[in-house]
Amino acid sequence: MFARVILDHATNKAIDRMFTYKIPKDLLEKCKIGTRVKVPFGFGNRNKTGYLIEISPKIEDVSYTIKNIIDIMDKEPIIDMEQIDLLKFLVEYYGASYASSINAILPPVSAKAIEDAKQQETYIVRTASSDQICEYLDSNESKKSKSKQLSILATIITHGEAPLSEIVRSIGKCDSSINTLIGKGFIKKIKKEVEQTKSKILYNKFMTLNTEQKLAYDKIMASDDLCILLEGVTGSGKTEVFLHAIRDVVDSGKGVIVLVPEIALTKQTQDRFIERFGNIVALTHSRLNAGERKQIYLKAKEGRVQIVIGPRSAVFMPVKNLELIIIDEEHDASYKSELPPKYNAIEVAIWRMSRNNGKVILASATPSIETYYKAKTNQIEYATLTQRAGGASMPNIEIVDMRDELAAGNNNVISSRLHGQIEATLKADKQVMLLLNRRGHSTFISCRKCGFVMKCHHCDMPFTYHQRQNQLICHYCMYQEEVPAICPNCQNKHIRFFGNGTQKVEEYLNRHFENFGIARMDFDTTSKKGSLNEILTAFKERKTNVLVGTQMISKGHDFSNVTLVGIIAADSSLYMEDFRANERTYQLLTQTLGRAGRGKNKGNVIIQTYSPDNPVLYQVKLSKHKEFYEQELDIRQVLGYPPFAHLFVVLMTADDEQLLIEKINMLYRYYEYYNKKKKFKIIGPVQASIPRIANRYRYKITIIGEDRELILLYGRYCIDKFSDKESTDFIKISWDVDPKSMI
Ligand code: ADP
Ligand code: ZN
Repeated sequence: MFARVILDHATNKAIDRMFTYKIPKDLLEKCKIGTRVKVPFGFGNRNKTGYLIEISPKIEDVSYTIKNIIDIMDKEPIIDMEQIDLLKFLVEYYGASYASSINAILPPVSAKAIEDAKQQETYIVRTASSDQICEYLDSNESKKSKSKQLSILATIITHGEAPLSEIVRSIGKCDSSINTLIGKGFIKKIKKEVEQTKSKILYNKFMTLNTEQKLAYDKIMASDDLCILLEGVTGSGKTEVFLHAIRDVVDSGKGVIVLVPEIALTKQTQDRFIERFGNIVALTHSRLNAGERKQIYLKAKEGRVQIVIGPRSAVFMPVKNLELIIIDEEHDASYKSELPPKYNAIEVAIWRMSRNNGKVILASATPSIETYYKAKTNQIEYATLTQRAGGASMPNIEIVDMRDELAAGNNNVISSRLHGQIEATLKADKQVMLLLNRRGHSTFISCRKCGFVMKCHHCDMPFTYHQRQNQLICHYCMYQEEVPAICPNCQNKHIRFFGNGTQKVEEYLNRHFENFGIARMDFDTTSKKGSLNEILTAFKERKTNVLVGTQMISKGHDFSNVTLVGIIAADSSLYMEDFRANERTYQLLTQTLGRAGRGKNKGNVIIQTYSPDNPVLYQVKLSKHKEFYEQELDIRQVLGYPPFAHLFVVLMTADDEQLLIEKINMLYRYYEYYNKKKKFKIIGPVQASIPRIANRYRYKITIIGEDRELILLYGRYCIDKFSDKESTDFIKISWDVDPKSMI
């Protein structure tokens, strides 16, 4: 018998593959697929640990002698068959290494799982007779007191005792009621050591679905399709629909994974799940330590946890009897990993559910163009929600032309219209959210008087300003141009590159509205553990009343008191050099304005822009949802971009820019040489949008082709050929298939 083994910690590319070993007779019995094995490796026969991936009775002839496995390290497999297949999928589909794929799938093997502390639970027990309690319940005194006391006593009378956590889950925070009842001598708190039992689902916490939600829910449950797009306007109750779907799956003893963008893992989201499902929910996030991660992993595998919620990496969780994966805000770019293995969590989810006969639900108010296209062409099922749930209406949207502001002598980042609205809103005791999307380093040049944007003559794409060379460069064809001193369109000299930070806006707000409480939420203010929730809680509790931030504020937050949302500069993302600029802008604006007027009061949205004629802004303003998607699909088709093609992006980096340019041009010639039939479009080499990181210069080549498999083959083949023939000292090459951001 022979075993195929991959080595643990195969950091070197040459040893990151399957190796064949013989299984000695005395180990045959203990040998199971998925266990770790000890093997001799290399000339010195050093002992190494590996994972046993396949067992087969024979192998192809080889010219070398096959060594024996030394020992089996685990009694039971630590990787199951699905995980092994998943590993192979990552290696084949993404061209990932075994080492990085193992890392993604398994928790750190050496970590010690955090033990469930012997559950010390606080219980509430009865200390008075039922008669005494009933007498109190009938008395006038109790009628004046709160309903919470009554619910607590009712529970205690029926059960004699109950865990405090379950009481809180069912009636909410009730410290003072408990203290009153203790004072009256009816109950007391005791600590008990208990076996953790699985919480029951609280059915009364689920809202009754409205007609539209019910239709969507029925469609999802009845569908035979593997994948379903649940598209619903912001606040339409998508979450409520998939909570119902989760309930059904959990009820039948099966498991669920819910993916959310990292930032949406707020207290609010957690509470919504925990109040309904209790301790069968586990949350993962990037700040868990290795032990905590392993604990959740084991609980999920054993079925003690049936619902795992987390960011993209949670898609690998070995949830027992996994039958449903939900991807909330499916358009979010964070679902595509930019670190090896460079997987897309949506694709992995679909792979897993296809293998398990389960379902994937993609939920969003603004699906990605790729997902929309799949729904449109019936590759996936499609359910929609068109109305806000709970009676809230969509907000008013107003576009403010910032060119007029400048003409009127207002140089500030906030227009007089928005200023007036902020003032009115705060005086009416309502709250304000302001979005300023300034991400990435690329900036575009535009005229502040006429709004003219400098674009490349060959590609009609906006130039990117490169500060170091003080040049405008087209990232699509490398064409360069001087920065003009005056606007080529209107001869005004107020031409400048765009860029206004959140800090600048905060300063302005503090100057004018300091008394109302101003908070800023961006990468800088939220990097400390817990700081994000602090900012959100202060805003919710109305300690602050204006929240200014980057795209972080656009996601998932449900503040019923916010009636004004301002978008400081819609342009900054419209003219990013990414071909997804329109899509991103549409999504960001739609999501952000979805934060306004979620309560009883109608919301207002003000969008500030230097290019009010841009069709995307109008499509957002007039809710021309379908028109936007159809138009964007047309553009993608004409340009030959996804979903009509696939991209293979090669990034080369080096300390020495001269050497880097030489090398990447060499690599480019390989691509040209092997592209004789002109199957692929090769773009570049161009400087990457972030030209230098940690003292390394960065250049890229983008290859576009229709066949994903072919482009992966061709893309890698040329890199291999290049690396074989040319020296790759001092340079690093990495690549990605269908990346979601073009940095
Ligand atoms: P989405 O996920 O589409 O943004 P949510 O599920 O967060 O929407 O719901 C938006 C708001 O509407 C929430 O405050 C939620 O409690 C409320 N809601 C959702 N469904 C219903 C319903 N069937 N009846 C009443 N209110 C609802
Ligand atoms: Zn160009």
